[in-house]
Amino acid sequence: MSRAKASTPVAAFPLCQDVHTDAHRQFLQALMSRGAVDRVRAATLHRQCCELHRVHYAADKLDEFIGVINRQLQPLSMEIRKGKEEESGHTCYALVNMAETAVTRMASDYTETELELFKKTMHQIVLSENGFVSSTKMLNVADQLKPKKMRKGDAEQVLRRLVQEKWLSEKEGEFTLHARCILELEQYILSHYPDMVSKCHICHTLVIQKQVCPDCGIATHAHCLARYVQAQTEPCCPHCKQFWPQRVPELSQPATLPSTSTSR
Ligand SMILES: [Zn+2]
Ligand SMILES: [Zn+2]
Repeated sequence: MSRAKASTPVAAFPLCQDVHTDAHRQFLQALMSRGAVDRVRAATLHRQCCELHRVHYAADKLDEFIGVINRQLQPLSMEIRKGKEEESGHTCYALVNMAETAVTRMASDYTETELELFKKTMHQIVLSENGFVSSTKMLNVADQLKPKKMRKGDAEQVLRRLVQEKWLSEKEGEFTLHARCILELEQYILSHYPDMVSKCHICHTLVIQKQVCPDCGIATHAHCLARYVQAQTEPCCPHCKQFWPQRVPELSQPATLPSTSTSR
């Protein structure tokens, strides 16, 4: 199977602190239980694990620290990958399985019908214009699921669990794919929907919550576009240079990273 090119594996850097320690083990365990964490949470975990196990800590060496874990994970075909949250553009880290698609693996955690509900939700999200599907629509779909239909209350519970386990994100009654899900399922989505999904014109990764140029049809992440038009007086398309009529969000700042001097 070809590796996902669009998301970046965290590189393994050769350096003197490249010994795998209990701090690394604990960081991995924390990530396994959460599925994915944002950059701030990852930085905090990094500091806490190092302090707890009295391992050399350098705040700016998170990627190298993760690189050490990734070398241990390699024989298991697992990897901690770094990606971006679609809406905010903030960095996140997720533990992904390189050997099998997540959908195959999810089959051991979810029943056939529950998995069908997830696939149908993903299908609606991928085919939608803005990357969202309403919960009302998905609850109606529950009636027509195979091999057997699902009651609305049960479907609601499954959707809630999919949000908790970071396959879906929910916002004001609408679902989209969680950044962790995109990192794991990028290849699956690209191969199942080759003509229906787009890659961002600016960062070249899969884009689900997209803005599309009405003139030339290219798609981008809102946060990629926000960075691109930052210096422009009037926002224009990165491809055809025509005026960009959609609302470009303000560049959002990630929450502050934990300070290195305080420890709790
Ligand atoms: Zn992008
Ligand atoms: Zn254009």
